[in-house]
Amino acid sequence: MRPTVLCFSGLDPSGGAGLQADIEAIGQSGAHAAIACTALTIQNSQQVFGFEATSKDLLLAQANALVQDLPIKAVKSGMLGTTDNIAALAEFLREHPDYLYVLDPVLVANSGGSLGNQETLVKAFVELIPLATVLTPNTVELRALTGEQDLDKATAKLFEMGAKAILVKGGHEDTPDYIRNALYVNGEMISETKCPRLDGEYHGSGCSLASFIAGRLALGDALNVAVNYAETWLFGVLKNAETPVVGGQKIPKRF
Ligand code: PLP
Repeated sequence: MRPTVLCFSGLDPSGGAGLQADIEAIGQSGAHAAIACTALTIQNSQQVFGFEATSKDLLLAQANALVQDLPIKAVKSGMLGTTDNIAALAEFLREHPDYLYVLDPVLVANSGGSLGNQETLVKAFVELIPLATVLTPNTVELRALTGEQDLDKATAKLFEMGAKAILVKGGHEDTPDYIRNALYVNGEMISETKCPRLDGEYHGSGCSLASFIAGRLALGDALNVAVNYAETWLFGVLKNAETPVVGGQKIPKRF
């Protein structure tokens, strides 16, 4: 069986982000996706209307039922929703130190809607940061996690907080023509990529990128190889994204 990535992620019923993005991206990476569902959200491509989080016990029961069943090589987390769920994931990861772990520190939806209480989530993420093989924050999340506005200082602070590797995604920076991402390992930048900025807003781009990276890591790629591969794949997927009927955020076409 294909190496499996176990995703801790929420349902976005629009199919743009969340667990559907994870399943599609990981399938495209060549690995198999399994899901421990953290929350059911109510949203469309324009707005998040609310969510109900899974209980900690239900979340762990979903994950534990898969441990002996599937060849799990990596874990990926997206929306976790509550501090209880963050604590549950930390407990699960400590029981499985051999799993690679991609931490996408989701705090808010790209549409701006709440996916949890940002202040308490930021505090709880501190427990997960040292457990991650790589973190994939955008610059808004990086600043929120560290309390530092300057990006170099924020990156350094995240390493002080125990990060091993960080992919800093520049999509929210004021660079009208391009997006710059930079990969840091043990405090040093090891690669940077610039791709042309595409028009419009995309729903689930962060989920897709982090999941594709997790899929490639599960298949044995080195981190820099997995990241470069995922960035190239994501650019094509966003270029082909489809615009919803009323013109909300575009839905990436991952097939
Ligand atoms: N997870 C869920 C369930 C979501 O609904 C969202 C955004 O709406 C995200 C994650 C984050 O999405 P993005 O990849 O756009 O940052």
